[in-house]
Amino acid sequence: MSQFPSRDGCLLVGGVPLPLLSARAGGTPFYAYDRGLIADRIAGLKDALPEAVHLHYAIKANPMPAVVDYISARTNGLDVASLGELQLAMDTGIEPDHISFAGPGKTDMELRAATACGVIVNAESEGEIERLAAIGNELGIRPALSIRVNPDFELKSSGMKMGGGAKPFGIDAERIPAALKKVESLDLDWRGFHIFSGSQNLRQEAIIEAQKKTLDLACRLADHASTPLRWLNMGGGFGIPYFPGDTRLDLKPISEHLFELTGILKRRLPEATPVIELGRYLVGESGIYVCEVVDRKESRGEIFLVTNGGLHHHLAASGNFGQVIRKNYPVAIGTRMNESRTETVNIVGPLCTPLDIIAAKVDLPRARTGDLIVVFQSGAYGLSASPQYFLSHPAIREMLV
Ligand SMILES: *Cc1c(COP(=O)(O)O)cnc(C)c1O
Repeated sequence: MSQFPSRDGCLLVGGVPLPLLSARAGGTPFYAYDRGLIADRIAGLKDALPEAVHLHYAIKANPMPAVVDYISARTNGLDVASLGELQLAMDTGIEPDHISFAGPGKTDMELRAATACGVIVNAESEGEIERLAAIGNELGIRPALSIRVNPDFELKSSGMKMGGGAKPFGIDAERIPAALKKVESLDLDWRGFHIFSGSQNLRQEAIIEAQKKTLDLACRLADHASTPLRWLNMGGGFGIPYFPGDTRLDLKPISEHLFELTGILKRRLPEATPVIELGRYLVGESGIYVCEVVDRKESRGEIFLVTNGGLHHHLAASGNFGQVIRKNYPVAIGTRMNESRTETVNIVGPLCTPLDIIAAKVDLPRARTGDLIVVFQSGAYGLSASPQYFLSHPAIREMLV
């Protein structure tokens, strides 16, 4: 992939050749994230977005503490969805008021921790609102709360839909007026709404449409509140290209539209801070997964490169994390970047399951035992979204380079 240059046939991450990185890691397999690429991505976004729009990082995309720390210093806030993520966010030292806590099924323990930290809780149900108020009373703290709305529209052509129809996320839009009444009857510091309709979208028109509908909905619902809306998390959904034919998102029309929206917001909800929360768009393209060819074998005319890494570290690349039809992530032989003669191979992991495929029938330079396989677009939903303990192979290392 173009974001990683190479020298003398070896891929470079942050200017460091792959074999040296491997030595630093204590060997393969490992994940490496390029901090320069993360910084560039965030800087590009900040240039494109209106200044009034706050940029948040959704930690679940990549919760490596060094990555979270690095990003927190460059964004306006962090979004968390568990006690563990909350603690990671608090450890960065950012203002608790710039942390929001979403996710269905928050336990009393999590609500208590969120209240004690002073972060904004995105309530996902009427029950959560009541439990949060009771916990606030118990701790003598007035909890900050935003209501997650399950919108009455869907984000079109999104990889994962998280709003519209019947969903475990948020409170249905039509029930928000009643939920606001409940909030106002309790001792809660209502800030606004969280409206997240989906993720991994590569169509700027779909994102623009969702943002427009989100603002319309927020304005309509805010009319039912007796205090002004101060906070509007409009979700994100910015996708990254993974597969052949995927085209990079064009930020320009999204940016132009956001300038228009912030104008409308200023008139209609003048006290509201708009927030965009992004995960994979900030980190996905900065990361690679690296494993090593352990065996090269042939079976009935096909070549198999068997590696020491697989779905236990990178479930998404194996096609088992939300893909309907399995497609290959972009891969390379990271130690043979300047060889142009190729052969067709299957790259598989060491697990005793036919699901453990890294790439099927790809054309790559001829690799031998000891060569390093690189899986690109692996900075998000990699290690933390994988069943590391399956088959009891050793744990792997992550590096921010
Ligand atoms: C997962 C999630 C995100 C991040 O999604 P990406 O596709 O990684 O940008 C943002 N907001 C919420 C509420 C999420 O659950």
